[in-house]
Amino acid sequence: MIHGPCGKDYMYSPCMVKGKCMCHFPKRFNGHTFFDDSGFHVYRRRRTVRVIKKGVSLDNKFGVPYNRDLLVRFQCHINLEICNSSRSLKYLFKYFLKGHDTGTMLLKKNTSSQVSAQEKKAKSLNEVKDFLDSRYVCASEASWRIFGFDIHNRWPSVDHLPIHLPGEKHIKFKTFADLEKVCNKATSKKTKLEAWFIANKELPQSQNFTYVDFSSNFTWVPSSRKWKLRQRGDVVGRLTEVHAISGELL
Ligand SMILES: [Zn+2]
Repeated sequence: MIHGPCGKDYMYSPCMVKGKCMCHFPKRFNGHTFFDDSGFHVYRRRRTVRVIKKGVSLDNKFGVPYNRDLLVRFQCHINLEICNSSRSLKYLFKYFLKGHDTGTMLLKKNTSSQVSAQEKKAKSLNEVKDFLDSRYVCASEASWRIFGFDIHNRWPSVDHLPIHLPGEKHIKFKTFADLEKVCNKATSKKTKLEAWFIANKELPQSQNFTYVDFSSNFTWVPSSRKWKLRQRGDVVGRLTEVHAISGELL
C-alpha cells in the first residue's frame, strides 16, 4: 500500500495536479499518532521502510493507511483511516442516499462538415435532451435489487442512556394535563438511570457493570420500566453527552 511515485521525481503521475499531489503525499514523518487542531488524525510514520516502485525509491511518507485483514479478504487496494468526527456520519449516509451511479453520454453521427466550434456548440443545444436522465443497471445490480438484498447494514444496536440529577429527569405531558397526575406519574415512571440504581440493589449480577456497560448485559423493558438480564442480541450503551458547563451533572 504505497502511494505514487509522484511529486518532483514523477511529475506525470495521475495524482499530480498543477505540480502538486491531489492526495497530499508525501506525508510527514511522525513519532506518534495524534489529532491535529482541526480534529484530523496524523498517523505515526517512522523512518524505517524504503521500497522501490517504478524505479523510484519511496519511504514511509508514501505509505497508505490500511487494514491487513480487509486487504487479504478483498484482494484489492483499500485505504482505511479512522473517522474521528461526528460529521463523518453525514459523509457515510450521503453515499446511501445520493442515488445510483450515472453518467451522461451522447451517441451521434460523425459529421465532419466545415463548422466552427462555436456553431457546433450552438447546434448541439437541445433543451429536451438536457433534461433526459437515463440510468444503466448491470445484471449484478439488477439481481441484487430483485432479491431484495440489503444495501447497507448497521450493527450493533445502540441503546441511548439518559443522565440526569435526582428530581431533574425529563418528562412529557400535554398542555392542559392535571399537574398532580403528571407529578405522580413522573415519580412512578422510572428512567433508565433510576432503574439502573434499583437493579443494583435488587440484582446481584448487575453490580459488576457500570451504567454504560449495562445495555450489553441487560435488556430494558419499557412496559415495566425495569432492567432484566439479557438473553440474546448485541447492544452497546451510549451515554447522553453532558457538556462541560453542566456543572454538577458533569
Ligand atoms: Zn500522489
